[in-house]
Amino acid sequence: MIRSVDNGKTTGPVIGVVGGGQLARMMCEAASELALDVRVLASAADESAPSTWRATTVVETLDAAALAEFAAGCDVLTFDHELIAPDVLEALESAGHVLRPSAAALAFSDKAVQRTRLAAAGVPVPRFDVVDSVADVERFAASTGGWPLVVKPPRGGYDGRGVYIVQSVDDVLDIVRATGGPVVVEELVRIDTEVAVIVVTGPDGTTVTYPAVETRQVDGICHDVVCPAGIDATVSVEAARVAERVASIVGAVGVLAVEMFVADGRVLVNEVAPRPHNSGHLTIEACTVSQFENHLRAVAGLPLGPSSLLSSAAMVNIIGTADAGDPAARRHHVLAVPGAHLHLYGKSWRPGRKLGHITVVGPDTGSALATARDALNRLDSDRDATMSS
Ligand code: ADP
Repeated sequence: MIRSVDNGKTTGPVIGVVGGGQLARMMCEAASELALDVRVLASAADESAPSTWRATTVVETLDAAALAEFAAGCDVLTFDHELIAPDVLEALESAGHVLRPSAAALAFSDKAVQRTRLAAAGVPVPRFDVVDSVADVERFAASTGGWPLVVKPPRGGYDGRGVYIVQSVDDVLDIVRATGGPVVVEELVRIDTEVAVIVVTGPDGTTVTYPAVETRQVDGICHDVVCPAGIDATVSVEAARVAERVASIVGAVGVLAVEMFVADGRVLVNEVAPRPHNSGHLTIEACTVSQFENHLRAVAGLPLGPSSLLSSAAMVNIIGTADAGDPAARRHHVLAVPGAHLHLYGKSWRPGRKLGHITVVGPDTGSALATARDALNRLDSDRDATMSS
């Protein structure tokens, strides 16, 4: 069953966003300012974008038929997530639809493809192999100096849900069996700092690179982001150089987020995401043009805007905890903190789910982060109010 709502008068290409999560919602916020005609295809009415964006179609399943029908009403498609099967994306292109990023660029969402292609192109990545047998695993373990190792199924992981630290061949094979195919196995890197660089590419190949941010993960979930990253200038230049090289290899029109490990002064690419990214949310307040606006500019074939950092900034994610409910019931605590910019995604509450974020700009990353954390703590500490509301 398809329910469609029209969005009124706008000009320019009709941009279809596949997926109705918070990235789609923030793309819509940017689209609103530019009066771009953006339509969203969501798979549930309680996703993040449908509640605020009228031009949303809700389908029961994001299958080939639903995508084809949606694409027929759009000039160009872009994506909120990487969950559409590669053959469905290729079929859309074969039928003449324009995908930005393309099906070929979206193939990099597969971690085995990512590691293999980037390593083949000489991009520094953690030592890895793609394995599905005892012999493969034993050979890799011997070549890296043993256990523990890190295992990642090629598809479906996010927020650390696809990362396993394992101690034995049996552990690896259990994951191979559970996922039904080869997995990426890699060294456990002794990470000094995690950084991310966003590169935006227009259809004509023009690029804009954002300053490196530093990310802090807890149990594989990004909790904080600060910009500029607390790394040496030479490492920062190297991170930008590596990210731009990765962008030229992936060839994704729009935002490409490149997550990297800094270890012993070296930069290793961990993961690439061909879409707006959590590490770039602070660009809304801290940069001349946000990642969301530049993504849409690229997708629409409009000139890209500057990525300059206007001020140091920090962002903290609002993550659902086991005993705290809807943060909207406690938003006044954040709004009482001067300088705290609150973004709630309108998603239903679940432990571990990203429900929103808070950004604070200037004067330096330390104080911005302290203020952002203070605002988050006030939100988290008032659980009783939520539970009773
Ligand atoms: P996901 O796609 O599930 O978010 P990532 O590959 O981005 O998974 O990994 C999530 C986090 O797990 C990383 O940010 C990092 O903290 C940790 N991690 C991933 N791979 C490694 C590794 N090889 N060595 C050490 N830590 C890792």
